[in-house]
Amino acid sequence: MITVTEALDQLFALVSPLDHEIIPLSEAGGRVLAQNAVARRDQPPFDGSAMDGYAVCEADAVPGTVLQVIGEAAAGHRFEGQLKQGQAVRIFTGAPVPKGADRVVIQEDVARTGDQITLGDRLDEKTHIRPSGSDFKVGDTLKAPRRLSPSDVALLASMNIAEVAVARKPRVALLSTGDELVMPGESPSPDQIIASNTFGLKALLDALGAEPRVLPIARDTRSSLRMGFELAEGADLIVTIGGASVGDHDLVGDVAAELGMNRAFYKVAMRPGKPLMAGQMGDTVMLGLPGNPVSAMVCGHIFMAPMIRVMQGLPAVPAPRGTAQLGIDLPKGGPREHYMRASLNDGEIIPESRQDSSLLSLLAHADALMVRPADDGPRQKGDLVDFIAL
Ligand code: AMP
Ligand code: MG
Repeated sequence: MITVTEALDQLFALVSPLDHEIIPLSEAGGRVLAQNAVARRDQPPFDGSAMDGYAVCEADAVPGTVLQVIGEAAAGHRFEGQLKQGQAVRIFTGAPVPKGADRVVIQEDVARTGDQITLGDRLDEKTHIRPSGSDFKVGDTLKAPRRLSPSDVALLASMNIAEVAVARKPRVALLSTGDELVMPGESPSPDQIIASNTFGLKALLDALGAEPRVLPIARDTRSSLRMGFELAEGADLIVTIGGASVGDHDLVGDVAAELGMNRAFYKVAMRPGKPLMAGQMGDTVMLGLPGNPVSAMVCGHIFMAPMIRVMQGLPAVPAPRGTAQLGIDLPKGGPREHYMRASLNDGEIIPESRQDSSLLSLLAHADALMVRPADDGPRQKGDLVDFIAL
């Protein structure tokens, strides 16, 4: 058996970054930036008011001073004149500060009568002016590669970038295998169950910004599996589910080999999971996941998601981990690295008492996979442990 780290290294060796495409900024959320984005302007492009109030000269900012209001500056409409001592300009948030003004007195600190204002007795120290370029300047860059968050998209818009270069979406074909499986919504016979992994993995791929395609379920026959592989044509990655162990009906490896896959089969020292298959089939990379629903999903997080990130140009690193305090005592662990369904509460993590790899309801309730290293000793409440957020 090999470790999770060793298996991941083998999988990383199979994938490489895809080419990029130019897309409108409105489509860019969640995509991975492929080229540095460079600001086309300063933001703000002028010294702007941060408040509603009156623009004044610093020398006049003294309690009790009476000033003549000579005009108005609103967002999008600057005051064209020059402010002198003894004068004020009514100003609103986002408006350019008039020439000659070096301070905005907020309207709450001013009493106005006609065209005159009197400054109150308690003026604050702040200028309430946002200097030009204080957010970013022309030439400032958002560096690639980077998965674009909603805030990144807002920043790019503000930089006046209407189109961005992002990694092409990895095309992923999902092939469930098994005589016992039917699609959700169909009527299963008494011996059948619903294909769940396909849909869970599709949702994971959607969230990763890939382009998943659910293929018809392949039956446990060579011809049906062969047809499944043919339907996957054009995919960057084909993910098979089930049929990958060593039972009489586990034909995925055989058929993939017949179709030219230089097959690598890994027994990975992990729970849940263990049987994992991978290799290259022409231009397509094949990843064979175990069929047990929780194993398939956990392997999706631990193996498939990092592979997708590499295809998107992101670094080849394992699923990101956090640490939390264990909420209960645990007896010593087993010989395989264990990814335990767990709940996070106020920084404390508590693994579920049942960890059978068929129990999807527990996975759905879990917030995290708590990671216990192989041969972990007994643990006490309060110990720091690693987790992967779900
Ligand atoms: P296998 O690896 O094909 O022997 O499958 C292991 C277990 O996972 C069996 O109980 C299968 O019924 C179940 N299984 C396989 N594929 C799926 C799937 N796509 N959705 C739900 N369960 C599955
Ligand atoms: Mg099967």
